[in-house]
Amino acid sequence: MALPRLAIATTEIELPISKRVVTIRQYRASEEKALLMVNQKNQNAVTSAMMNLIAACCGDSISKDDLSKLSMVDTLYLYTKLNIISVGAEKTIGVTCQNEEGGKDKDGNVVACKHEVKMKVDLSVIEVSNDGKFDPDVSLGEDTKVSLRLPTMLEMAGIDASKQEDAAYMFDSIISLLSKCTTQMVINGDFISTKDTNVQEIFNWYMDLSHENLQKLVGWYEQIPYLYKTIKWKCSTCGHQNELVIKDITSFFH
Ligand SMILES: [Zn+2]
Repeated sequence: MALPRLAIATTEIELPISKRVVTIRQYRASEEKALLMVNQKNQNAVTSAMMNLIAACCGDSISKDDLSKLSMVDTLYLYTKLNIISVGAEKTIGVTCQNEEGGKDKDGNVVACKHEVKMKVDLSVIEVSNDGKFDPDVSLGEDTKVSLRLPTMLEMAGIDASKQEDAAYMFDSIISLLSKCTTQMVINGDFISTKDTNVQEIFNWYMDLSHENLQKLVGWYEQIPYLYKTIKWKCSTCGHQNELVIKDITSFFH
């Protein structure tokens, strides 16, 4: 006889950017195991496992196609909520006191405190920068502007984080990403639909911009909404009031 399957909790959440309401269920033990087996050093494998898990736990409340089009912020928010309903909102992490002058070495010289503690973090409150608001338009001079959508999870995962120090690689990757995210262009007053323009053409057009205009574009990328968690604690050794902003929300679930 097949054993009856136990019911599992579900909840409704509203995504911070798209405002879409999605129903998620807790993940099951087998799904948690699949997540644990992913090599954390392989960025693409981690993203793909995350997307598969979200798709499975959202069921019919969002299509796979719509899910892949969500902004990275919405996807990470969904993933955070999924972890909260499945394994709880509380996580224990190790933090280090940031007081640069909180300690003394054996000769009496002032040194950084660096006192380490383990602390509990409540992830039920996660914030979105600028309340999730962003301006899609970038003006590139009179009668010329471009409109952009937020990058998706898969698009962001396409940028190899381990090459962050490689300025030329990052430059190309960001311009390439912004080319994909361009939804509308007005050039010298003429409206140009990006549906009829290929990404390479847009990339080339961006590479042809002046330094000043390119900086405006990069400035847009730098202000896109992100999720963050602020952690505050008073150091028990030096008394310093620490405040740490963690932007890599997925690091809580590794
Ligand atoms: Zn300290």
